[in-house]
Amino acid sequence: MSENARDPVDPAPGEENLDPVFISQAQFHRAAGYISGLKRGLIDFFNTPKRAVIFRFPVEMDDGSVQTFEGYRVLHSRVLGPGKGGIRFHPGATLEETEALAALMTWKCALIDVPFGGAKGGVVCDTKSLSEGELRRITRRFATELAPVIGPFTDIPAPDLYTNGQTMAWIYDTYDMLHAGRNNRPVVTGKPVDLGGSLGRYEATGLGVAFAAERLLFSGLIPGLDSFNGARVVVQGFGQVGAVTAQALHAAGAVIVAVSDSKGGIFCEQGIDLQAAKDFKKAQGTVVGLPDTLTVTNDELLEISCDILIPAAAGDAIRGDNAARIDCRLVVEAANRPVTPAADDILAAKGIHVLPDILANAGGVTVSYFEWVQNHANEQWDLDVVNGKLKRKMQSATDTVLARYRNLLESAAGGEPSPDTVGEAPTGVKPDLRTAALVVAVERVSIAALERGIWP
Ligand code: NAD
Repeated sequence: MSENARDPVDPAPGEENLDPVFISQAQFHRAAGYISGLKRGLIDFFNTPKRAVIFRFPVEMDDGSVQTFEGYRVLHSRVLGPGKGGIRFHPGATLEETEALAALMTWKCALIDVPFGGAKGGVVCDTKSLSEGELRRITRRFATELAPVIGPFTDIPAPDLYTNGQTMAWIYDTYDMLHAGRNNRPVVTGKPVDLGGSLGRYEATGLGVAFAAERLLFSGLIPGLDSFNGARVVVQGFGQVGAVTAQALHAAGAVIVAVSDSKGGIFCEQGIDLQAAKDFKKAQGTVVGLPDTLTVTNDELLEISCDILIPAAAGDAIRGDNAARIDCRLVVEAANRPVTPAADDILAAKGIHVLPDILANAGGVTVSYFEWVQNHANEQWDLDVVNGKLKRKMQSATDTVLARYRNLLESAAGGEPSPDTVGEAPTGVKPDLRTAALVVAVERVSIAALERGIWP
Protein backbone atom coordinates (compact mmCIF):
# COMPACT_ATOMS: atom_id res chain seq x y z
CA MET A 1 0.00 0.00 0.00
CA SER A 2 1.36 3.41 -0.88
CA GLU A 3 -1.56 5.72 -0.33
CA ASN A 4 0.12 9.05 -0.52
CA ALA A 5 3.71 8.67 -1.74
CA ARG A 6 4.46 11.27 -4.39
CA ASP A 7 7.11 12.42 -6.80
CA PRO A 8 9.44 15.26 -5.77
CA VAL A 9 8.47 18.83 -6.73
CA ASP A 10 10.56 21.16 -8.91
CA PRO A 11 12.16 24.24 -7.27
CA ALA A 12 11.68 27.81 -8.45
CA PRO A 13 14.10 28.68 -11.30
CA GLY A 14 17.66 29.25 -10.03
CA GLU A 15 16.88 27.91 -6.56
CA GLU A 16 18.35 24.79 -5.02
CA ASN A 17 15.85 21.97 -4.73
CA LEU A 18 15.39 21.48 -0.98
CA ASP A 19 12.42 19.17 -1.38
CA PRO A 20 13.16 16.34 1.11
CA VAL A 21 11.92 13.64 -1.26
CA PHE A 22 14.18 14.99 -4.03
CA ILE A 23 17.21 15.07 -1.72
CA SER A 24 16.57 11.60 -0.35
CA GLN A 25 16.17 10.17 -3.86
CA ALA A 26 19.21 12.05 -5.23
CA GLN A 27 21.43 10.63 -2.48
CA PHE A 28 20.01 7.14 -2.97
CA HIS A 29 20.53 7.25 -6.74
CA ARG A 30 24.10 8.42 -6.39
CA ALA A 31 24.86 5.44 -4.16
CA ALA A 32 22.87 2.99 -6.28
CA GLY A 33 25.12 3.85 -9.21
CA TYR A 34 28.02 2.16 -7.43
CA ILE A 35 26.21 -1.07 -6.64
CA SER A 36 26.65 -3.78 -9.19
CA GLY A 37 23.71 -6.04 -9.91
CA LEU A 38 21.11 -3.93 -8.10
CA LYS A 39 17.88 -4.84 -9.82
CA ARG A 40 15.95 -1.95 -11.38
CA GLY A 41 12.72 -3.08 -9.78
CA LEU A 42 14.35 -2.93 -6.36
CA ILE A 43 15.54 0.62 -7.04
CA ASP A 44 11.91 1.56 -7.71
CA PHE A 45 10.85 -0.23 -4.53
CA PHE A 46 13.44 1.55 -2.35
CA ASN A 47 12.77 4.92 -3.99
CA THR A 48 9.36 5.26 -2.38
CA PRO A 49 7.88 4.12 0.95
CA LYS A 50 6.24 0.75 1.35
CA ARG A 51 3.34 2.40 3.16
CA ALA A 52 2.37 6.00 3.96
CA VAL A 53 -0.71 6.84 5.99
CA ILE A 54 -2.32 10.21 6.79
CA PHE A 55 -4.50 10.47 9.89
CA ARG A 56 -6.89 13.32 10.68
CA PHE A 57 -8.43 13.41 14.10
CA PRO A 58 -10.33 15.84 16.37
CA VAL A 59 -9.11 16.84 19.83
CA GLU A 60 -10.95 18.79 22.51
CA MET A 61 -8.89 21.79 23.62
CA ASP A 62 -8.75 23.29 27.12
CA ASP A 63 -11.15 26.11 26.19
CA GLY A 64 -13.81 23.61 25.08
CA SER A 65 -13.21 24.13 21.36
CA VAL A 66 -12.39 21.22 19.03
CA GLN A 67 -9.38 21.25 16.70
CA THR A 68 -8.61 18.82 13.90
CA PHE A 69 -5.00 17.65 13.72
CA GLU A 70 -3.13 15.87 10.94
CA GLY A 71 -0.55 13.15 11.54
CA TYR A 72 1.53 10.74 9.45
CA ARG A 73 3.18 7.36 9.79
CA VAL A 74 5.41 6.19 6.98
CA LEU A 75 6.95 2.72 6.75
CA HIS A 76 9.74 2.84 4.21
CA SER A 77 11.01 -0.75 4.41
CA ARG A 78 10.50 -3.91 6.42
CA VAL A 79 13.16 -5.93 4.63
CA LEU A 80 15.55 -6.20 7.60
CA GLY A 81 12.89 -6.20 10.32
CA PRO A 82 10.06 -4.12 11.82
CA GLY A 83 9.93 -0.42 11.01
CA LYS A 84 11.77 1.88 13.41
CA GLY A 85 11.67 5.65 13.59
CA GLY A 86 10.69 8.67 15.61
CA ILE A 87 7.50 10.69 15.80
CA ARG A 88 7.89 14.47 15.66
CA PHE A 89 5.36 17.08 16.76
CA HIS A 90 6.11 20.14 14.66
CA PRO A 91 4.10 22.83 12.87
CA GLY A 92 6.24 22.24 9.76
CA ALA A 93 5.82 18.44 9.68
CA THR A 94 4.79 17.22 6.22
CA LEU A 95 4.18 13.87 4.61
CA GLU A 96 7.10 14.53 2.25
CA GLU A 97 9.56 15.18 5.06
CA THR A 98 8.25 12.12 6.91
CA GLU A 99 8.83 9.97 3.81
CA ALA A 100 12.39 11.23 3.38
CA LEU A 101 13.19 10.66 7.06
CA ALA A 102 11.69 7.15 6.94
CA ALA A 103 14.03 6.23 4.06
CA LEU A 104 16.94 7.67 6.03
CA MET A 105 16.00 5.34 8.91
CA THR A 106 16.09 2.30 6.62
CA TRP A 107 19.65 3.10 5.59
CA LYS A 108 20.69 4.08 9.12
CA CYS A 109 19.44 0.82 10.66
CA ALA A 110 21.07 -1.22 7.90
CA LEU A 111 24.38 0.59 8.25
CA ILE A 112 24.58 0.33 12.03
CA ASP A 113 23.47 -3.28 11.66
CA VAL A 114 20.34 -3.50 13.80
CA PRO A 115 17.46 -5.71 12.57
CA PHE A 116 14.99 -2.94 11.77
CA GLY A 117 13.54 -1.31 8.68
CA GLY A 118 12.89 2.41 8.41
CA ALA A 119 9.82 4.37 9.51
CA LYS A 120 8.91 7.87 10.68
CA GLY A 121 5.89 9.74 11.94
CA GLY A 122 4.70 13.22 12.70
CA VAL A 123 1.82 15.35 13.90
CA VAL A 124 1.37 18.91 12.63
CA CYS A 125 1.17 20.93 15.85
CA ASP A 126 3.06 23.56 17.81
CA THR A 127 3.87 22.04 21.20
CA LYS A 128 4.90 25.46 22.56
CA SER A 129 1.28 26.66 22.33
CA LEU A 130 -0.28 23.51 23.84
CA SER A 131 -0.96 22.67 27.48
CA GLU A 132 0.17 19.33 28.90
CA GLY A 133 -3.44 18.12 28.89
CA GLU A 134 -3.86 19.04 25.22
CA LEU A 135 -0.58 17.33 24.34
CA ARG A 136 -1.67 14.19 26.19
CA ARG A 137 -5.03 14.10 24.38
CA ILE A 138 -3.39 14.67 20.97
CA THR A 139 -0.87 11.90 21.69
CA ARG A 140 -3.43 9.40 22.95
CA ARG A 141 -5.81 10.02 20.06
CA PHE A 142 -2.94 9.78 17.55
CA ALA A 143 -1.74 6.57 19.23
CA THR A 144 -5.26 5.13 18.94
CA GLU A 145 -5.28 5.94 15.22
CA LEU A 146 -1.78 4.47 14.91
CA ALA A 147 -2.59 1.28 16.84
CA PRO A 148 -3.45 -0.85 13.77
CA VAL A 149 -0.16 -0.03 12.02
CA ILE A 150 2.37 -0.06 14.89
CA GLY A 151 3.38 -2.95 17.14
CA PRO A 152 6.38 -4.56 18.89
CA PHE A 153 7.06 -6.71 15.80
CA THR A 154 5.77 -4.44 13.00
CA ASP A 155 6.63 -0.76 13.50
CA ILE A 156 8.19 0.75 16.62
CA PRO A 157 8.03 4.54 17.18
CA ALA A 158 10.44 6.63 19.27
CA PRO A 159 10.79 10.31 20.24
CA ASP A 160 11.92 12.92 17.73
CA LEU A 161 11.64 16.72 17.56
CA TYR A 162 9.36 18.02 20.35
CA THR A 163 8.39 14.57 21.59
CA ASN A 164 10.05 12.85 24.54
CA GLY A 165 9.88 10.03 27.08
CA GLN A 166 6.51 11.30 28.35
CA THR A 167 5.07 11.13 24.82
CA MET A 168 6.31 7.54 24.51
CA ALA A 169 4.83 6.65 27.91
CA TRP A 170 1.40 7.87 26.71
CA ILE A 171 1.70 5.97 23.42
CA TYR A 172 2.77 2.81 25.24
CA ASP A 173 -0.10 3.13 27.72
CA THR A 174 -2.67 3.72 24.98
CA TYR A 175 -1.40 0.80 22.92
CA ASP A 176 -1.34 -1.40 26.05
CA MET A 177 -4.98 -0.53 26.81
CA LEU A 178 -5.91 -1.66 23.31
CA HIS A 179 -3.80 -4.86 23.42
CA ALA A 180 -4.06 -6.01 27.04
CA GLY A 181 -2.63 -9.32 28.23
CA ARG A 182 0.83 -9.31 26.69
CA ASN A 183 4.17 -7.54 27.09
CA ASN A 184 3.71 -4.35 25.05
CA ARG A 185 6.77 -2.48 26.31
CA PRO A 186 8.70 -3.01 23.05
CA VAL A 187 6.03 -1.10 21.06
CA VAL A 188 7.94 2.18 21.56
CA THR A 189 11.47 3.07 22.61
CA GLY A 190 12.77 6.16 24.34
CA LYS A 191 10.44 5.48 27.28
CA PRO A 192 11.17 6.70 30.81
CA VAL A 193 13.51 4.25 32.58
CA ASP A 194 10.72 3.32 35.05
CA LEU A 195 8.66 2.00 32.12
CA GLY A 196 11.45 -0.02 30.53
CA GLY A 197 13.50 2.74 28.91
CA SER A 198 17.19 1.98 28.50
CA LEU A 199 19.82 3.64 30.62
CA GLY A 200 21.92 5.87 28.38
CA ARG A 201 19.24 6.52 25.74
CA TYR A 202 19.18 10.30 26.29
CA GLU A 203 22.95 10.60 25.75
CA ALA A 204 23.19 7.87 23.09
CA THR A 205 23.00 10.02 19.95
CA GLY A 206 25.48 12.62 21.17
CA LEU A 207 27.88 9.98 22.50
CA GLY A 208 27.54 8.05 19.24
CA VAL A 209 28.46 11.21 17.29
CA ALA A 210 31.60 11.46 19.40
CA PHE A 211 32.51 7.75 18.99
CA ALA A 212 32.10 7.86 15.19
CA ALA A 213 33.98 11.15 14.73
CA GLU A 214 36.80 10.02 17.01
CA ARG A 215 37.19 6.80 15.01
CA LEU A 216 37.27 8.74 11.75
CA LEU A 217 39.99 11.07 13.05
CA PHE A 218 41.96 8.11 14.43
CA SER A 219 41.93 6.51 10.94
CA GLY A 220 44.16 9.32 9.65
CA LEU A 221 41.70 10.43 6.96
CA ILE A 222 42.39 14.09 7.80
CA PRO A 223 46.12 14.78 7.88
CA GLY A 224 47.21 16.52 11.09
CA LEU A 225 43.84 16.00 12.80
CA ASP A 226 43.96 12.55 14.32
CA SER A 227 42.17 13.17 17.62
CA PHE A 228 39.92 15.68 19.39
CA ASN A 229 42.82 16.90 21.46
CA GLY A 230 43.13 20.65 20.83
CA ALA A 231 40.63 20.55 17.96
CA ARG A 232 38.51 23.70 17.62
CA VAL A 233 34.85 22.74 17.37
CA VAL A 234 31.65 24.63 16.52
CA VAL A 235 28.27 23.08 17.39
CA GLN A 236 25.00 24.36 15.93
CA GLY A 237 22.09 23.37 18.21
CA PHE A 238 22.50 22.96 21.95
CA GLY A 239 19.74 20.44 22.66
CA GLN A 240 19.78 16.72 23.45
CA VAL A 241 22.24 15.87 20.69
CA GLY A 242 24.33 19.04 20.43
CA ALA A 243 24.92 19.57 24.14
CA VAL A 244 25.90 15.93 24.81
CA THR A 245 28.18 15.89 21.76
CA ALA A 246 29.85 19.12 22.86
CA GLN A 247 30.38 17.73 26.36
CA ALA A 248 31.86 14.45 25.07
CA LEU A 249 34.26 16.23 22.71
CA HIS A 250 35.29 18.68 25.42
CA ALA A 251 36.02 15.73 27.74
CA ALA A 252 38.26 14.30 25.00
CA GLY A 253 40.28 17.52 24.77
CA ALA A 254 38.44 19.56 22.13
CA VAL A 255 37.89 23.29 22.52
CA ILE A 256 34.24 24.16 21.87
CA VAL A 257 34.54 27.69 20.51
CA ALA A 258 30.89 28.26 19.58
CA VAL A 259 27.43 26.82 20.22
CA SER A 260 23.93 27.99 19.33
CA ASP A 261 20.22 27.44 19.68
CA SER A 262 17.25 28.68 17.69
CA LYS A 263 17.65 32.21 19.14
CA GLY A 264 21.31 32.60 18.07
CA GLY A 265 24.86 31.60 18.90
CA ILE A 266 27.74 32.43 21.23
CA PHE A 267 31.48 32.45 20.51
CA CYS A 268 34.51 32.37 22.82
CA GLU A 269 38.01 31.97 21.38
CA GLN A 270 39.33 30.25 24.53
CA GLY A 271 36.43 27.78 24.66
CA ILE A 272 32.92 28.00 26.08
CA ASP A 273 32.21 26.88 29.64
CA LEU A 274 29.62 24.24 28.69
CA GLN A 275 28.15 23.81 32.15
CA ALA A 276 27.68 27.58 32.41
CA ALA A 277 26.03 27.57 28.96
CA LYS A 278 23.65 24.79 30.04
CA ASP A 279 22.73 26.56 33.28
CA PHE A 280 22.27 29.86 31.44
CA LYS A 281 20.01 28.22 28.83
CA LYS A 282 17.96 26.58 31.55
CA ALA A 283 17.44 29.90 33.27
CA GLN A 284 17.06 32.18 30.22
CA GLY A 285 15.74 29.81 27.55
CA THR A 286 18.75 30.49 25.30
CA VAL A 287 22.55 30.42 25.36
CA VAL A 288 22.62 33.92 23.87
CA GLY A 289 23.91 36.43 26.42
CA LEU A 290 26.16 34.06 28.36
CA PRO A 291 28.75 36.31 30.03
CA ASP A 292 32.23 36.45 28.45
CA THR A 293 30.98 35.34 25.02
CA LEU A 294 30.30 37.18 21.78
CA THR A 295 26.84 36.88 20.24
CA VAL A 296 26.70 35.60 16.65
CA THR A 297 23.83 34.72 14.34
CA ASN A 298 23.30 31.11 13.35
CA ASP A 299 24.47 31.96 9.82
CA GLU A 300 27.68 33.53 11.16
CA LEU A 301 28.24 30.59 13.49
CA LEU A 302 28.38 28.13 10.60
CA GLU A 303 31.11 30.20 8.94
CA ILE A 304 33.44 30.40 11.94
CA SER A 305 36.90 29.05 11.13
CA CYS A 306 37.35 25.77 13.03
CA ASP A 307 38.52 22.17 12.68
CA ILE A 308 35.18 20.42 13.16
CA LEU A 309 31.73 21.85 12.46
CA ILE A 310 28.80 19.94 13.95
CA PRO A 311 25.30 20.88 12.75
CA ALA A 312 23.07 19.39 15.48
CA ALA A 313 19.83 21.32 14.94
CA ALA A 314 17.60 21.33 11.87
CA GLY A 315 17.87 20.12 8.27
CA ASP A 316 19.28 22.15 5.34
CA ALA A 317 21.65 24.20 7.52
CA ILE A 318 24.50 23.96 4.98
CA ARG A 319 23.23 24.58 1.46
CA GLY A 320 24.43 25.56 -1.98
CA ASP A 321 24.22 29.24 -0.99
CA ASN A 322 26.47 29.11 2.11
CA ALA A 323 28.65 26.01 1.67
CA ALA A 324 31.44 27.94 -0.04
CA ARG A 325 31.91 30.00 3.16
CA ILE A 326 32.22 26.97 5.46
CA ASP A 327 35.75 27.03 6.89
CA CYS A 328 36.52 23.74 8.63
CA ARG A 329 38.16 20.38 7.92
CA LEU A 330 35.35 18.04 8.90
CA VAL A 331 31.57 18.44 9.06
CA VAL A 332 29.83 15.94 11.34
CA GLU A 333 26.11 15.60 10.63
CA ALA A 334 24.71 15.16 14.13
CA ALA A 335 21.31 16.41 12.89
CA ASN A 336 19.32 14.69 10.17
CA ARG A 337 19.94 16.04 6.66
CA PRO A 338 21.79 19.25 7.63
CA VAL A 339 23.95 19.25 4.45
CA THR A 340 22.19 19.40 1.07
CA PRO A 341 23.47 17.60 -2.07
CA ALA A 342 24.62 20.91 -3.63
CA ALA A 343 26.54 21.69 -0.43
CA ASP A 344 28.03 18.17 -0.43
CA ASP A 345 29.60 18.88 -3.83
CA ILE A 346 30.91 22.31 -2.80
CA LEU A 347 32.41 20.96 0.45
CA ALA A 348 33.99 18.03 -1.40
CA ALA A 349 35.59 20.44 -3.88
CA LYS A 350 37.04 22.36 -0.92
CA GLY A 351 38.47 19.12 0.52
CA ILE A 352 36.08 19.12 3.50
CA HIS A 353 34.86 15.66 4.50
CA VAL A 354 31.29 15.15 5.75
CA LEU A 355 30.62 12.38 8.26
CA PRO A 356 27.04 11.60 7.15
CA ASP A 357 23.93 11.52 9.36
CA ILE A 358 23.14 7.85 8.76
CA LEU A 359 26.42 7.05 10.49
CA ALA A 360 27.08 10.03 12.77
CA ASN A 361 23.72 10.10 14.59
CA ALA A 362 22.96 6.37 14.50
CA GLY A 363 23.74 6.05 18.23
CA GLY A 364 20.13 6.95 19.07
CA VAL A 365 18.55 4.14 17.11
CA THR A 366 21.27 1.77 18.31
CA VAL A 367 20.34 2.27 21.96
CA SER A 368 16.66 2.21 20.96
CA TYR A 369 17.39 -1.26 19.61
CA PHE A 370 19.09 -2.15 22.90
CA GLU A 371 15.95 -0.94 24.72
CA TRP A 372 13.76 -3.15 22.51
CA VAL A 373 15.99 -6.16 23.24
CA GLN A 374 15.92 -5.43 26.98
CA ASN A 375 12.10 -5.09 26.90
CA HIS A 376 11.65 -8.45 25.18
CA ALA A 377 13.94 -10.07 27.76
CA ASN A 378 12.45 -8.07 30.67
CA GLU A 379 15.95 -6.95 31.60
CA GLN A 380 17.71 -3.69 32.45
CA TRP A 381 21.33 -3.45 31.36
CA ASP A 382 23.89 -1.42 33.32
CA LEU A 383 24.97 1.89 31.79
CA ASP A 384 28.52 0.71 31.10
CA VAL A 385 27.13 -2.32 29.22
CA VAL A 386 24.94 -0.04 27.07
CA ASN A 387 27.74 2.44 26.36
CA GLY A 388 30.29 -0.31 25.68
CA LYS A 389 27.99 -1.96 23.13
CA LEU A 390 27.19 1.45 21.62
CA LYS A 391 30.87 2.29 21.21
CA ARG A 392 31.59 -1.01 19.45
CA LYS A 393 28.65 -0.55 17.07
CA MET A 394 29.68 3.02 16.17
CA GLN A 395 33.33 2.10 15.68
CA SER A 396 32.55 -0.95 13.60
CA ALA A 397 30.16 0.98 11.30
CA THR A 398 32.71 3.79 10.93
CA ASP A 399 35.45 1.30 10.00
CA THR A 400 33.12 -0.30 7.44
CA VAL A 401 32.27 3.05 5.84
CA LEU A 402 35.93 4.17 5.72
CA ALA A 403 36.98 0.86 4.12
CA ARG A 404 34.19 1.15 1.56
CA TYR A 405 35.08 4.78 0.86
CA ARG A 406 38.69 3.85 0.12
CA ASN A 407 37.53 0.96 -2.01
CA LEU A 408 35.17 3.24 -4.01
CA LEU A 409 37.96 5.77 -4.49
CA GLU A 410 40.21 3.05 -5.89
CA SER A 411 37.51 1.79 -8.27
CA ALA A 412 36.72 5.36 -9.37
CA ALA A 413 40.43 5.83 -10.11
CA GLY A 414 40.19 2.70 -12.29
CA GLY A 415 37.70 4.68 -14.36
CA GLU A 416 35.53 1.86 -15.67
CA PRO A 417 32.01 1.78 -14.24
CA SER A 418 30.64 -1.70 -13.79
CA PRO A 419 28.33 -2.76 -16.64
CA ASP A 420 25.94 -4.04 -13.95
CA THR A 421 25.34 -0.65 -12.37
CA VAL A 422 21.89 0.66 -13.01
CA GLY A 423 21.72 3.97 -11.07
CA GLU A 424 22.92 7.27 -12.45
CA ALA A 425 26.51 6.52 -13.44
CA PRO A 426 28.74 8.42 -11.03
CA THR A 427 30.94 9.79 -13.79
CA GLY A 428 32.97 12.86 -12.91
CA VAL A 429 31.83 12.77 -9.27
CA LYS A 430 34.27 11.50 -6.68
CA PRO A 431 32.67 9.24 -4.12
CA ASP A 432 32.30 10.74 -0.64
CA LEU A 433 31.65 9.29 2.81
CA ARG A 434 27.87 9.72 2.46
CA THR A 435 27.86 7.73 -0.76
CA ALA A 436 30.07 5.04 0.80
CA ALA A 437 27.75 4.77 3.82
CA LEU A 438 24.69 4.54 1.58
CA VAL A 439 26.36 1.96 -0.65
CA VAL A 440 26.96 -0.27 2.39
CA ALA A 441 23.39 0.21 3.61
CA VAL A 442 21.62 -0.20 0.27
CA GLU A 443 23.68 -3.29 -0.51
CA ARG A 444 22.73 -4.87 2.83
CA VAL A 445 19.03 -4.22 2.32
CA SER A 446 19.00 -5.35 -1.31
CA ILE A 447 20.95 -8.53 -0.54
CA ALA A 448 18.48 -9.30 2.26
CA ALA A 449 15.52 -8.60 -0.06
CA LEU A 450 16.88 -11.03 -2.64
CA GLU A 451 17.78 -13.66 -0.02
CA ARG A 452 14.25 -13.49 1.37
CA GLY A 453 13.05 -13.88 -2.20
CA ILE A 454 10.57 -11.59 -3.90
CA TRP A 455 7.08 -12.58 -2.75
CA PRO A 456 5.35 -14.64 -4.11
P1 NAD B 1 16.42 19.23 20.61
O1 NAD B 1 15.09 19.81 20.40
O2 NAD B 1 16.78 18.65 21.93
O3 NAD B 1 17.56 20.32 20.28
C1 NAD B 1 17.56 21.05 19.10
C2 NAD B 1 18.43 22.28 19.32
O4 NAD B 1 18.57 22.97 18.09
C3 NAD B 1 17.84 23.28 20.31
O5 NAD B 1 18.90 23.85 21.05
C4 NAD B 1 17.19 24.32 19.41
O6 NAD B 1 17.10 25.60 20.03
C5 NAD B 1 18.19 24.33 18.29
N1 NAD B 1 17.67 24.84 17.02
C6 NAD B 1 16.47 24.61 16.45
N2 NAD B 1 16.40 25.26 15.27
C7 NAD B 1 17.58 25.87 15.11
C8 NAD B 1 18.13 26.68 14.09
N3 NAD B 1 17.42 26.99 12.99
N4 NAD B 1 19.40 27.12 14.24
C9 NAD B 1 20.12 26.78 15.33
N5 NAD B 1 19.66 26.04 16.33
C10 NAD B 1 18.40 25.60 16.22
O7 NAD B 1 16.62 18.16 19.42
P2 NAD B 1 17.70 16.99 19.34
O8 NAD B 1 17.09 15.74 19.87
O9 NAD B 1 19.00 17.45 19.90
O10 NAD B 1 17.81 16.79 17.77
C11 NAD B 1 18.67 17.61 16.97
C12 NAD B 1 18.79 17.00 15.60
O11 NAD B 1 19.30 15.67 15.71
C13 NAD B 1 17.48 16.85 14.81
O12 NAD B 1 17.79 17.02 13.43
C14 NAD B 1 17.08 15.41 15.06
O13 NAD B 1 16.25 14.91 14.03
C15 NAD B 1 18.45 14.75 15.04
N6 NAD B 1 18.51 13.47 15.73
C16 NAD B 1 18.17 13.36 17.03
C17 NAD B 1 18.29 12.12 17.65
C18 NAD B 1 17.96 11.97 19.11
O14 NAD B 1 18.20 10.87 19.65
N7 NAD B 1 17.51 12.99 19.80
C19 NAD B 1 18.69 10.99 16.92
C20 NAD B 1 19.05 11.14 15.58
C21 NAD B 1 18.95 12.40 14.99
